[in-house]
Amino acid sequence: MTQETRTIESTWDLTAYQFKIEADALNLFIKGTKDKKILGRKCHQCGTVYVPGPTYCRKCLIDIDQVVEVSQEGVLDAFTVNLADVRGIPVENPFITCTVKLDGSDSFLMGTLEGWTEWHSVREGMRVKVVWKDTTSGALADLSHFQLI
Ligand SMILES: [Zn+2]
Repeated sequence: MTQETRTIESTWDLTAYQFKIEADALNLFIKGTKDKKILGRKCHQCGTVYVPGPTYCRKCLIDIDQVVEVSQEGVLDAFTVNLADVRGIPVENPFITCTVKLDGSDSFLMGTLEGWTEWHSVREGMRVKVVWKDTTSGALADLSHFQLI
């Protein structure tokens, strides 16, 4: 049986959304970025490594405080090729936003992907590495982007 794909045009009020970011996880993460390190937290019970690292394990629901440094290389998990802006207007230079699972981590970081020439050739599972800004200050933006290896 073939399923029908339907398109619904509508407005999407982004101001209605609220985002909650766990301050301790973010603070640990940016503490690491200043020294060009990726820091997270590991659950002592199940071994799950979170980056950024919350103060509790989302599986075991227990407090966790073991800080770990993970690799600066990993695997491209998912990505979106941005051919147009949010209004649907084509962009002159397409760019790729992605999620990456760094080696030693069980969670994902988001960022932009560089090092590709033809976006058609980008595939999930490709190896990537972290690229830092030349000067870091302890901010999320210290992590410039991910680069295909
Ligand atoms: Zn756990």
